[in-house]
Amino acid sequence: MASKSRWADTEEDAAQDAQRKREKEEKKRLKAEKARKAEEEKRAQAEAEAARQQQEQQEKEQVENDANNRPPAKRRKVTPGREDGSVAEGEGGVEEDEAPKILRFEAGGWGPAHSVENYDKLNDIEEGAYGWVARGKEIKTGKVVALKRLKLDDGNSGAGLPETGLREIQILKDCSHRNIVTLREVVTSGGPQRIENVFLVLDFLEHDLKSILEDMPEPFLASEVKTLLRQLASGLSYLHDRWILHRDLKTSNLLLNNRGCLKIADFGMARYVGDPPPARLTQLVVTLWYRSPELLLGTETYGPAVDMWSVGCIFGELLTREPLLQGRNEVDELTRIFELCGVPTDESWPGFRRLPNARSLRLPPKSASSVASGSVIRARFPLLTSAGCALLDGLLALDPTRRPTARQMLAHEYFAQDPKPKQEAMFPTFPSKAGQERRRRRDTPNAPGRGQQAAVDLGSVDFGGIFAGREKEERGGGFSLRMI
Ligand code: ADP
Repeated sequence: MASKSRWADTEEDAAQDAQRKREKEEKKRLKAEKARKAEEEKRAQAEAEAARQQQEQQEKEQVENDANNRPPAKRRKVTPGREDGSVAEGEGGVEEDEAPKILRFEAGGWGPAHSVENYDKLNDIEEGAYGWVARGKEIKTGKVVALKRLKLDDGNSGAGLPETGLREIQILKDCSHRNIVTLREVVTSGGPQRIENVFLVLDFLEHDLKSILEDMPEPFLASEVKTLLRQLASGLSYLHDRWILHRDLKTSNLLLNNRGCLKIADFGMARYVGDPPPARLTQLVVTLWYRSPELLLGTETYGPAVDMWSVGCIFGELLTREPLLQGRNEVDELTRIFELCGVPTDESWPGFRRLPNARSLRLPPKSASSVASGSVIRARFPLLTSAGCALLDGLLALDPTRRPTARQMLAHEYFAQDPKPKQEAMFPTFPSKAGQERRRRRDTPNAPGRGQQAAVDLGSVDFGGIFAGREKEERGGGFSLRMI
């Protein structure tokens, strides 16, 4: 056994050493504990500061959103619903993660500060069977505006805004695009106890395309047609991207200012649709001359392609100054469409026979109906370039799925080719009827939702017979029918 060294500690030394060691360890522990507490405190402070900043940011965004009157930034999803407001079987109605879209009015929006009395009337612009629009001036600012009176429903509990009016306000409030008319505010007459009338206060534009086309001695130049169509497609692409269908595009609903800027107006027939669109939508939309074949054949499921058909009709009208397809009634409208675009076949429009009004159509035999629509369009618009003919032919495709979207239209080579679209600033100016005198009443039809009764029953219309009967008829523009 090894002997103890003489340097070895005594028992007392050892006890003292152990005590010192314990004290040292305790000191170390206390120091570590202090450091941990300090660290924890620091972290809590940082977290509190971050939370405060986040709160501040949210409050700021809320104020901005309220000021701009738009909902918080979020991809818009619109609940598909039925046209009559009911929810189809199997449809959840509202998706779980989104609140229903509610029309918001600012507090105090119906008070005296928003009375029509704040405006002086300058002159009537349009007084028709379904609406009244006047030019006015805001007394406080001198700003010239257009005032559109909305039609009210007379209910038991007083006058109320019909759904079309509510939709028009809602959609215009949600839209902000240079090719869509700006809604400045909504004003009323009659006072808060009993509202007599509701008016949309819109930015005033000097012209609508219909009035210009009626009066201009020469048609638009090709470069001008391109400028107008490009702006129309741009506004429409904005709407369709947001699930909005206009459903009443026509030249009288396209406004133009004196700086060559076109704006889409009249959202009385417009509505939000979802993706996929609602299972049932009304077919009683779009003014007859601009109404697509699928609507005429009674479809209840449709989408942006109905607007693209109207764009095709507007394209033709801009070129000739005459509405392209002036049917006297639904049957006549379809007949004219088939003359221009060809009679539908299972190849050109798969599935058209399943549409409600198509089932008992008697169409001419296939060989007799095989005139290519492109060649008829080329013959009718001899001055249009081949890219222009291709675009027009696409827009007027009988099968809605074959029509280009507004976005595709914008990218079409027609706009890239010479002559290039004219710069808006170089656009010609026209004398403004809206700014000076009362307009005469229009002789063009209106969308059917505005009072007209629907649809002639197309059930057993014999289109072969109609074509045969028209065979020798002289048609405008040298267009003759040789289908049968
Ligand atoms: P309605 O729903 O009664 O058809 P619209 O909105 O189509 O009413 O307007 C009818 C007409 O009034 C248009 O064709 C246009 O001539 C004129 N109009 C509408 N809005 C404006 C505006 N903001 N600026 C100038 N004229 C306008």
